[in-house]
Amino acid sequence: MMRLQSIIGQERPIRFLTQMLQKKSVPHALLFTGIDGIGKQTTAVAFGMALNCLSPVGESACEQCPSCQKVVSGTHPDIIIVKPEGAFIKIDQIRTISRQLRFAPLEGRWRVVIINDAHAMNLEASNAILKILEEPPKSTVIILTASQKTDLLPTIVSRCRQIAFGPIPYEKVSETLVELRGLDRQTATTLAVLTKGSLGKALSVDGEKWTIWRKRLLEQVASLSTRSVQPVFAFADTLSRDKDKLFDALDIIMTWFRDILMCKVSPERIINKDCAAEIRNALQGRSINELLEKMEAVQATQTAISRNSNPRLALEVMMMRLLK
Ligand SMILES: [Zn+2]
Repeated sequence: MMRLQSIIGQERPIRFLTQMLQKKSVPHALLFTGIDGIGKQTTAVAFGMALNCLSPVGESACEQCPSCQKVVSGTHPDIIIVKPEGAFIKIDQIRTISRQLRFAPLEGRWRVVIINDAHAMNLEASNAILKILEEPPKSTVIILTASQKTDLLPTIVSRCRQIAFGPIPYEKVSETLVELRGLDRQTATTLAVLTKGSLGKALSVDGEKWTIWRKRLLEQVASLSTRSVQPVFAFADTLSRDKDKLFDALDIIMTWFRDILMCKVSPERIINKDCAAEIRNALQGRSINELLEKMEAVQATQTAISRNSNPRLALEVMMMRLLK
Protein backbone atom coordinates (compact mmCIF):
# COMPACT_ATOMS: atom_id res chain seq x y z
CA MET A 1 0.00 0.00 0.00
CA MET A 2 2.99 2.29 0.12
CA ARG A 3 3.93 2.65 -3.51
CA LEU A 4 3.23 5.97 -5.19
CA GLN A 5 0.97 4.10 -7.59
CA SER A 6 -1.24 2.81 -4.76
CA ILE A 7 -2.02 6.26 -3.33
CA ILE A 8 -5.78 6.72 -3.60
CA GLY A 9 -7.38 9.64 -5.45
CA GLN A 10 -4.32 11.83 -6.09
CA GLU A 11 -3.59 11.16 -9.77
CA ARG A 12 -2.23 14.63 -10.53
CA PRO A 13 0.34 14.89 -7.71
CA ILE A 14 1.44 11.30 -8.38
CA ARG A 15 1.89 12.10 -12.08
CA PHE A 16 4.13 15.09 -11.23
CA LEU A 17 6.24 13.03 -8.87
CA THR A 18 6.55 10.13 -11.29
CA GLN A 19 7.72 12.56 -13.99
CA MET A 20 10.42 13.82 -11.63
CA LEU A 21 11.57 10.25 -11.12
CA GLN A 22 11.52 9.58 -14.87
CA LYS A 23 13.53 12.68 -15.68
CA LYS A 24 15.75 12.10 -12.68
CA SER A 25 15.18 15.73 -11.83
CA VAL A 26 14.19 16.08 -8.21
CA PRO A 27 13.81 19.58 -6.72
CA HIS A 28 15.56 20.41 -3.44
CA ALA A 29 12.28 21.24 -1.80
CA LEU A 30 8.65 20.34 -2.35
CA LEU A 31 5.56 21.75 -0.70
CA PHE A 32 2.49 19.50 -0.53
CA THR A 33 -0.67 21.47 0.25
CA GLY A 34 -4.22 20.31 1.01
CA ILE A 35 -6.59 19.40 3.85
CA ASP A 36 -5.70 16.75 6.46
CA GLY A 37 -6.16 13.08 5.73
CA ILE A 38 -5.76 13.06 1.94
CA GLY A 39 -2.39 11.32 1.76
CA LYS A 40 0.24 14.08 1.79
CA GLN A 41 2.54 12.33 4.25
CA THR A 42 1.97 8.88 2.78
CA THR A 43 2.87 10.26 -0.64
CA ALA A 44 6.02 11.91 0.71
CA VAL A 45 7.17 8.61 2.24
CA ALA A 46 6.26 6.71 -0.95
CA PHE A 47 8.31 9.20 -2.96
CA GLY A 48 11.26 8.57 -0.62
CA MET A 49 10.78 4.84 -1.12
CA ALA A 50 10.79 5.18 -4.92
CA LEU A 51 13.92 7.38 -4.80
CA ASN A 52 15.83 4.82 -2.76
CA CYS A 53 14.50 1.52 -4.13
CA LEU A 54 17.32 -0.84 -5.11
CA SER A 55 15.42 -2.64 -7.85
CA PRO A 56 12.66 -0.38 -9.11
CA VAL A 57 10.24 -1.54 -11.76
CA GLY A 58 10.10 1.49 -14.05
CA GLU A 59 9.40 4.38 -11.69
CA SER A 60 7.74 2.07 -9.22
CA ALA A 61 9.32 0.97 -5.94
CA CYS A 62 9.58 -2.82 -5.64
CA GLU A 63 8.43 -2.98 -1.98
CA GLN A 64 10.67 -6.04 -1.55
CA CYS A 65 14.31 -4.88 -1.45
CA PRO A 66 16.01 -4.13 1.89
CA SER A 67 15.63 -0.37 1.31
CA CYS A 68 11.88 -0.60 0.57
CA GLN A 69 11.34 -2.89 3.54
CA LYS A 70 13.00 -0.40 5.85
CA VAL A 71 10.77 2.37 4.51
CA VAL A 72 7.68 0.21 5.06
CA SER A 73 8.69 -0.60 8.63
CA GLY A 74 9.58 3.04 9.32
CA THR A 75 13.24 2.31 10.04
CA HIS A 76 15.01 3.75 6.99
CA PRO A 77 17.66 6.12 8.41
CA ASP A 78 17.42 8.51 5.44
CA ILE A 79 13.67 9.06 5.61
CA ILE A 80 13.36 11.61 8.37
CA ILE A 81 9.93 12.71 9.56
CA VAL A 82 9.40 15.82 11.67
CA LYS A 83 6.03 16.70 13.16
CA PRO A 84 4.75 19.15 15.74
CA GLU A 85 5.62 18.36 19.35
CA GLY A 86 2.58 19.77 21.10
CA ALA A 87 1.27 22.72 19.12
CA PHE A 88 4.53 23.68 17.43
CA ILE A 89 7.53 22.47 15.51
CA LYS A 90 10.35 23.95 17.53
CA ILE A 91 13.79 25.25 16.67
CA ASP A 92 15.54 22.29 18.36
CA GLN A 93 13.81 19.85 16.01
CA ILE A 94 15.07 21.78 12.97
CA ARG A 95 18.57 22.13 14.50
CA THR A 96 18.78 18.35 14.81
CA ILE A 97 17.90 18.03 11.12
CA SER A 98 20.40 20.69 10.19
CA ARG A 99 23.16 18.75 11.99
CA GLN A 100 22.23 15.52 10.18
CA LEU A 101 22.28 17.31 6.83
CA ARG A 102 25.98 18.10 7.14
CA PHE A 103 26.67 14.46 6.33
CA ALA A 104 25.86 12.43 3.24
CA PRO A 105 22.80 10.12 3.38
CA LEU A 106 23.56 7.11 5.56
CA GLU A 107 22.31 4.28 3.36
CA GLY A 108 20.19 5.54 0.52
CA ARG A 109 20.94 7.52 -2.58
CA TRP A 110 18.55 10.16 -1.35
CA ARG A 111 17.73 11.60 2.01
CA VAL A 112 14.11 12.71 2.35
CA VAL A 113 13.22 15.10 5.14
CA ILE A 114 9.46 15.34 5.62
CA ILE A 115 8.20 18.25 7.69
CA ASN A 116 4.58 17.57 8.49
CA ASP A 117 2.25 20.46 9.26
CA ALA A 118 5.02 22.90 8.41
CA HIS A 119 2.65 25.74 9.31
CA ALA A 120 3.22 24.69 12.92
CA MET A 121 6.84 25.88 12.76
CA ASN A 122 7.33 28.85 15.02
CA LEU A 123 9.25 31.83 13.65
CA GLU A 124 12.64 30.59 14.84
CA ALA A 125 12.06 27.15 13.32
CA SER A 126 10.83 28.76 10.07
CA ASN A 127 13.98 30.85 9.84
CA ALA A 128 16.15 27.80 10.50
CA ILE A 129 14.45 25.83 7.71
CA LEU A 130 14.79 28.83 5.41
CA LYS A 131 18.53 28.76 5.99
CA ILE A 132 18.61 25.10 4.96
CA LEU A 133 16.56 25.87 1.83
CA GLU A 134 18.92 28.70 0.89
CA GLU A 135 21.86 26.32 0.74
CA PRO A 136 20.25 23.01 -0.11
CA PRO A 137 22.37 19.99 0.80
CA LYS A 138 23.20 17.45 -1.91
CA SER A 139 21.13 14.30 -2.44
CA THR A 140 18.45 15.68 -0.16
CA VAL A 141 14.85 16.56 -0.80
CA ILE A 142 12.90 18.44 1.81
CA ILE A 143 9.15 17.93 1.67
CA LEU A 144 6.92 20.31 3.62
CA THR A 145 3.23 19.58 4.10
CA ALA A 146 0.67 22.27 5.00
CA SER A 147 -3.02 23.03 4.56
CA GLN A 148 -2.29 26.03 2.37
CA LYS A 149 0.76 27.92 1.26
CA THR A 150 -0.43 31.16 2.84
CA ASP A 151 0.20 29.54 6.23
CA LEU A 152 3.96 29.64 5.55
CA LEU A 153 6.51 32.42 5.14
CA PRO A 154 6.50 33.55 1.48
CA THR A 155 10.30 33.21 1.46
CA ILE A 156 9.90 29.49 2.26
CA VAL A 157 7.14 28.97 -0.31
CA SER A 158 9.17 30.61 -3.07
CA ARG A 159 11.95 28.07 -2.60
CA CYS A 160 9.66 25.04 -2.90
CA ARG A 161 7.98 23.40 -5.86
CA GLN A 162 4.34 23.37 -4.82
CA ILE A 163 2.11 20.37 -5.43
CA ALA A 164 -1.57 20.81 -4.53
CA PHE A 165 -3.45 17.75 -3.24
CA GLY A 166 -7.22 17.87 -3.75
CA PRO A 167 -9.90 16.24 -1.63
CA ILE A 168 -10.29 12.57 -2.59
CA PRO A 169 -13.39 12.00 -4.76
CA TYR A 170 -16.30 10.85 -2.56
CA GLU A 171 -16.84 7.64 -4.55
CA LYS A 172 -13.21 6.64 -3.93
CA VAL A 173 -13.47 7.35 -0.19
CA SER A 174 -16.73 5.45 -0.06
CA GLU A 175 -15.34 2.45 -1.98
CA THR A 176 -12.32 2.33 0.34
CA LEU A 177 -14.54 2.45 3.43
CA VAL A 178 -16.63 -0.44 2.12
CA GLU A 179 -13.50 -2.41 1.31
CA LEU A 180 -11.37 -1.71 4.39
CA ARG A 181 -14.01 -1.10 7.06
CA GLY A 182 -16.85 -3.29 5.81
CA LEU A 183 -19.33 -0.40 6.04
CA ASP A 184 -22.57 -0.62 4.09
CA ARG A 185 -22.53 1.54 0.98
CA GLN A 186 -24.96 4.14 2.28
CA THR A 187 -23.11 4.80 5.54
CA ALA A 188 -19.85 4.88 3.57
CA THR A 189 -21.18 7.46 1.12
CA THR A 190 -22.63 9.70 3.83
CA LEU A 191 -19.37 9.53 5.78
CA ALA A 192 -17.35 10.33 2.64
CA VAL A 193 -19.42 13.45 1.96
CA LEU A 194 -19.33 14.63 5.55
CA THR A 195 -15.57 14.18 5.90
CA LYS A 196 -15.23 16.23 2.70
CA GLY A 197 -12.98 13.78 0.89
CA SER A 198 -10.54 13.28 3.77
CA LEU A 199 -9.96 9.53 3.65
CA GLY A 200 -7.75 9.65 6.76
CA LYS A 201 -10.54 11.21 8.78
CA ALA A 202 -13.19 8.88 7.37
CA LEU A 203 -11.05 5.85 8.24
CA SER A 204 -10.53 7.10 11.79
CA VAL A 205 -14.26 7.07 12.48
CA ASP A 206 -16.15 4.08 13.92
CA GLY A 207 -18.87 3.85 11.26
CA GLU A 208 -21.56 2.29 13.41
CA LYS A 209 -21.16 4.59 16.41
CA TRP A 210 -20.94 7.55 14.08
CA THR A 211 -24.22 6.63 12.35
CA ILE A 212 -26.02 6.37 15.67
CA TRP A 213 -24.58 9.72 16.78
CA ARG A 214 -25.50 11.44 13.49
CA LYS A 215 -29.08 10.13 13.53
CA ARG A 216 -29.59 11.17 17.13
CA LEU A 217 -28.26 14.63 16.25
CA LEU A 218 -30.63 14.96 13.29
CA GLU A 219 -33.58 13.82 15.42
CA GLN A 220 -32.78 16.54 17.91
CA VAL A 221 -32.57 19.17 15.18
CA ALA A 222 -35.85 17.92 13.69
CA SER A 223 -37.61 18.21 17.04
CA LEU A 224 -36.47 21.77 17.80
CA SER A 225 -39.63 23.69 18.50
CA THR A 226 -40.77 26.96 20.02
CA ARG A 227 -43.25 24.98 22.11
CA SER A 228 -40.60 24.07 24.62
CA VAL A 229 -37.38 26.03 24.85
CA GLN A 230 -35.79 24.08 27.71
CA PRO A 231 -34.53 21.15 25.56
CA VAL A 232 -33.14 23.68 23.08
CA PHE A 233 -30.74 25.10 25.66
CA ALA A 234 -29.89 21.63 26.93
CA PHE A 235 -29.02 20.64 23.34
CA ALA A 236 -26.79 23.72 22.90
CA ASP A 237 -25.10 22.91 26.19
CA THR A 238 -24.38 19.26 25.27
CA LEU A 239 -22.98 20.23 21.87
CA SER A 240 -20.73 22.91 23.30
CA ARG A 241 -19.16 20.46 25.77
CA ASP A 242 -17.82 18.10 23.10
CA LYS A 243 -15.28 20.41 21.46
CA ASP A 244 -13.72 17.68 19.30
CA LYS A 245 -17.03 16.90 17.67
CA LEU A 246 -18.48 20.40 17.56
CA PHE A 247 -17.49 21.27 13.99
CA ASP A 248 -18.55 17.84 12.73
CA ALA A 249 -21.88 18.29 14.48
CA LEU A 250 -22.40 21.69 12.84
CA ASP A 251 -21.55 20.20 9.43
CA ILE A 252 -24.16 17.50 10.03
CA ILE A 253 -26.77 20.04 11.14
CA MET A 254 -26.01 21.97 7.94
CA THR A 255 -26.68 18.84 5.84
CA TRP A 256 -30.09 18.51 7.50
CA PHE A 257 -31.31 21.86 6.16
CA ARG A 258 -29.45 21.41 2.89
CA ASP A 259 -31.21 18.06 2.45
CA ILE A 260 -34.65 19.54 3.13
CA LEU A 261 -33.92 22.16 0.49
CA MET A 262 -32.57 19.54 -1.91
CA CYS A 263 -35.66 17.40 -1.30
CA LYS A 264 -37.69 20.16 -2.97
CA VAL A 265 -35.70 20.09 -6.21
CA SER A 266 -33.87 16.77 -6.59
CA PRO A 267 -34.61 14.34 -3.76
CA GLU A 268 -32.18 11.75 -5.15
CA ARG A 269 -29.30 14.04 -4.18
CA ILE A 270 -29.90 14.23 -0.43
CA ILE A 271 -26.92 13.26 1.76
CA ASN A 272 -28.74 11.68 4.71
CA LYS A 273 -30.54 9.08 2.60
CA ASP A 274 -31.27 6.95 5.65
CA CYS A 275 -33.43 9.81 6.99
CA ALA A 276 -35.33 10.41 3.73
CA ALA A 277 -38.77 10.02 5.32
CA GLU A 278 -37.97 12.48 8.14
CA ILE A 279 -36.55 14.93 5.62
CA ARG A 280 -39.70 14.78 3.49
CA ASN A 281 -41.74 15.38 6.65
CA ALA A 282 -39.63 18.35 7.61
CA LEU A 283 -40.18 19.89 4.19
CA GLN A 284 -43.90 20.42 4.90
CA GLY A 285 -44.76 24.09 5.04
CA ARG A 286 -41.19 25.36 4.73
CA SER A 287 -40.23 28.02 2.23
CA ILE A 288 -36.90 28.13 0.42
CA ASN A 289 -36.12 31.43 2.12
CA GLU A 290 -36.73 29.97 5.54
CA LEU A 291 -34.39 27.04 4.84
CA LEU A 292 -31.69 29.34 3.48
CA GLU A 293 -31.96 31.45 6.64
CA LYS A 294 -31.42 28.35 8.78
CA MET A 295 -28.36 27.40 6.74
CA GLU A 296 -27.00 30.92 7.17
CA ALA A 297 -27.53 30.61 10.92
CA VAL A 298 -25.42 27.42 11.01
CA GLN A 299 -22.73 28.95 8.83
CA ALA A 300 -22.55 32.10 10.97
CA THR A 301 -22.08 29.88 14.03
CA GLN A 302 -19.26 27.93 12.39
CA THR A 303 -17.51 31.19 11.56
CA ALA A 304 -18.09 32.67 15.02
CA ILE A 305 -16.74 29.60 16.83
CA SER A 306 -13.70 29.32 14.56
CA ARG A 307 -13.01 32.95 15.50
CA ASN A 308 -13.07 32.01 19.18
CA SER A 309 -16.56 33.11 20.16
CA ASN A 310 -17.97 31.39 23.22
CA PRO A 311 -19.33 28.14 21.73
CA ARG A 312 -22.23 27.82 24.12
CA LEU A 313 -23.51 31.34 23.51
CA ALA A 314 -23.03 31.01 19.76
CA LEU A 315 -24.95 27.71 19.77
CA GLU A 316 -27.79 29.17 21.83
CA VAL A 317 -28.15 32.04 19.37
CA MET A 318 -28.12 29.52 16.50
CA MET A 319 -30.72 27.26 18.10
CA MET A 320 -33.10 30.19 18.56
CA ARG A 321 -32.78 30.92 14.84
CA LEU A 322 -33.36 27.26 13.96
CA LEU A 323 -36.67 27.02 15.84
CA LYS A 324 -39.74 26.56 13.70
ZN1 LIG B 1 12.73 -1.64 -3.56
